[in-house]
Amino acid sequence: MHIGIYPGSFDPVTNGHLDIVRRASSLCDKLIIAVARNQDKRSLFATEERVSMLIECCSDDINNVEVVSFDGLLVDYCRQKEVSFIVRGLRAIADFEYEHAIALMNKKLAPDVETVFLMASAEYSFVSSRMVKEVASYKGDISSLVPDCVIPRLMKRLCSV
Ligand code: ADP
Repeated sequence: MHIGIYPGSFDPVTNGHLDIVRRASSLCDKLIIAVARNQDKRSLFATEERVSMLIECCSDDINNVEVVSFDGLLVDYCRQKEVSFIVRGLRAIADFEYEHAIALMNKKLAPDVETVFLMASAEYSFVSSRMVKEVASYKGDISSLVPDCVIPRLMKRLCSV
């Protein structure tokens, strides 16, 4: 079985992430979406909430996806789950330097695990979780940027911080 993993913070999941999930899921038998349990505690949403939003928005039309959370080194988790490739999305040059460094480090630590980059689709190439949170905090319209299930949660969360 050919297993891919798409790791990230997903704080919260955006339509850009979902576009990558859809495209990556067609490249493997199973795609694991792996939510990083951030150590720095700067996430707006708790890990469990980030996981549950992903499960909710993937359940309708993508059926070879599993959503999990993980901590520790991604490559250790990849070995444990027999993952053959890591998926990352590239939006712009700004993403490249960071992604390049992580990909080379992961390759060094686990030479048998490849990193595959998917270019962001043009309509989502400007979308990031950070920008979505910023726009939402000023009550801007984010309805075309995130899945429906994220909107009420984002509003509730931003009103309580
Ligand atoms: P991280 O904190 O690991 O960067 P993110 O949740 O921000 O995690 O993103 C996970 C991955 O998805 C990264 O590779 C990022 O470049 C990619 N990504 C984020 N937003 C988009 C988007 N709009 N289109 C394509 N890829 C994206």
